[in-house]
Amino acid sequence: MTQSTPLSAAQLKELKEQLLARRSELDGQMAQNLANLAPAENTAGSVSQDDNARLANQTREVDQALTSLDEQELARINRALEAMEEGSYGQCDECGCAIPFERLKIEPMTQHCVACKSQIEQKQGVARG
Ligand SMILES: [Zn+2]
Repeated sequence: MTQSTPLSAAQLKELKEQLLARRSELDGQMAQNLANLAPAENTAGSVSQDDNARLANQTREVDQALTSLDEQELARINRALEAMEEGSYGQCDECGCAIPFERLKIEPMTQHCVACKSQIEQKQGVARG
């Protein structure tokens, strides 16, 4: 297969900067989430704090879910950055076509063209974003 990367160096640079900015944003979010997740337990024993504890648990579950979403996104960002290093960035994982720059600008960590992505989403029944 010939590696036809229609993205110019300037376009790649722009996308890379987007990815890096998003990554540091996520890093901050995850640090915040982890701080919220820090164990605040073993102070239990009082009945009056029962509701508070329950609320705290719920909050923690949400934070945990958010953290795992962030981790997934972070993994995708890292994969995209690796692909940039390898020179395979911007190619659809599924059909190998070149993903248009316009699409990459909106979702720089995507690994699929629009057609393949909607097929995958149909298969998985997952709607994202
Ligand atoms: Zn494709």
